Amino acid sequence: MTESGTTNVTDQTILQRVTQIVGPSNILTGTDMDPFVTDWRDRYHGRALCVARPGNVQEVAALMQLSAREGIPVVPQGGNTGLCGAATPDDSGQAMVIRLDRMNRILAISALDSMIRVEAGCVLQTLQETARRHGLYFPLSLGAEGSCQIGGNIATNAGGTSVLRYGAMRDLVLGLEVVLPDGTICDWLSPMRKNTTGYDLKQLFIGAEGTLGLITAASLKVFAAPRQCVTCMLTLDTVEQALDIFARLRATLGERISSFEIMNKTQVDVVLQYTQGNTYPFATVAPWSLLIEVTDTLPGTDLLPCVEDALAACMENDLMTDAVITASEAQAQALWRLRHSVSEGNKTAGISVAHDTAVPLSRQADFARLTQERLRAAFPHDPMPMLGHLGDGNIHAVVILNREEYADDDQRKAAIRQINDIVDDVTLSLGGVISAEHGVGQGNVRRLLAGRGENDVRMMQKIKMALDPDWRMNAGKLFAPPTDGIS
Ligand code: FAD
Repeated sequence: MTESGTTNVTDQTILQRVTQIVGPSNILTGTDMDPFVTDWRDRYHGRALCVARPGNVQEVAALMQLSAREGIPVVPQGGNTGLCGAATPDDSGQAMVIRLDRMNRILAISALDSMIRVEAGCVLQTLQETARRHGLYFPLSLGAEGSCQIGGNIATNAGGTSVLRYGAMRDLVLGLEVVLPDGTICDWLSPMRKNTTGYDLKQLFIGAEGTLGLITAASLKVFAAPRQCVTCMLTLDTVEQALDIFARLRATLGERISSFEIMNKTQVDVVLQYTQGNTYPFATVAPWSLLIEVTDTLPGTDLLPCVEDALAACMENDLMTDAVITASEAQAQALWRLRHSVSEGNKTAGISVAHDTAVPLSRQADFARLTQERLRAAFPHDPMPMLGHLGDGNIHAVVILNREEYADDDQRKAAIRQINDIVDDVTLSLGGVISAEHGVGQGNVRRLLAGRGENDVRMMQKIKMALDPDWRMNAGKLFAPPTDGIS
């Protein structure tokens, strides 16, 4: 920290101390850090003093104590798949990135407690597969599940494709183990479902994007595994029809609907053009496509006729133009691959300016229409995919800017700002939120203030000051320090 003046010891001494804590093979410096100082979309680039890979909670606590003593900024990092630059350090080169990938063990599984306990670096897909092997089900599912980690999922309060039935990550957390910025280890891992003994402190760390402490382990809810699953894709002309279908299916199938996903034509076209191995199950791409999954934990075959009857009623009411109900696991996986390839497709197609809006379901059609109208007026030639978790009220409105046309930094930033302002304006006018599942990171700090208002941001700053008075944990993410101090 010689440049910053925050500490008297040299960078070399700090690196030696980090090495003593994690071992020489678990500290990265120089170009070895490259993959971990850039985000998944290659949108944010930073520098770091080192990347430390602790192997257990004691090592994490020792790193945090070192950070506290020497004033070293800390950036927690999981799988580095976040979409808002929240795990990317700034360009000062002073931060220690703490990657949890070595802490990836399954610690316990209890069918009676309906609980699985894992270290925070456990990859989401590993957790899903482990639960399945035990005849249980962990429902969080998203496109990055092969590399994102449970700690990152919790720190971003990730959503994904089964929030409709099972809730977002916050709803799946029973307990947490957290290391505070001063190195204190908090063990809140109990799987109990009821507890009214004061503040539920673990909740503060869910969705905090690593600004309050490091999550090192979690006790998570698991469920009875679905024994019947019907996956289907429908084509239709309008979002209004999609909402009508949703209301009708929910009236008959209730909470058995676990996913209700939507994509517009542009989104399907982008995936087919820019990703490998995807197919669309109809001859022409429809204005809107719905991917629906209905599941039941009861054995038997009675779910399929119920879904068929419900869809037939929708067809008779001219709510859709075509439908496929998958006949095999492989066909269902192909539809899900198409859906999960959207981020990859948009990233490859150009500069993907994606939004993570949620508005009440009753305003979804207005949101889709108004954003398309206003964005199209401002950007007449750029592709505008729309996709998302319609059943959760969470549609991602995307504009894909051409890389060559927007090569100039200032021009690109101005365009992105204009797109964000349009989408935020529509979102807030409809009573929505600017981020439903991706978080705020460094990309949306300005927009958080507009979305949450001064009172909320000030309350968050006070909580941050109570736990991290030196502002060392993931500084520059979520919000800036108050300029007038905290009173
Ligand atoms: P990282 O990107 O490493 O970090 C994200 C944030 O969490 C940072 O602020 C970081 O500091 C903090 N953090 C990480 N680990 C810890 C820890 N142990 N303790 C404290 N803080 C920590 N998100 C959705 O919600 N729904 C989707 O449908 C979805 N689809 C995606 C599809 C693709 C193809 C991609 C690339 C991303 C998608 N995402 C989605 C975004 C991303 O996968 C999630 O935000 C995920 O939860 C991030 O996990 P991670 O381990 O990669 O975290």
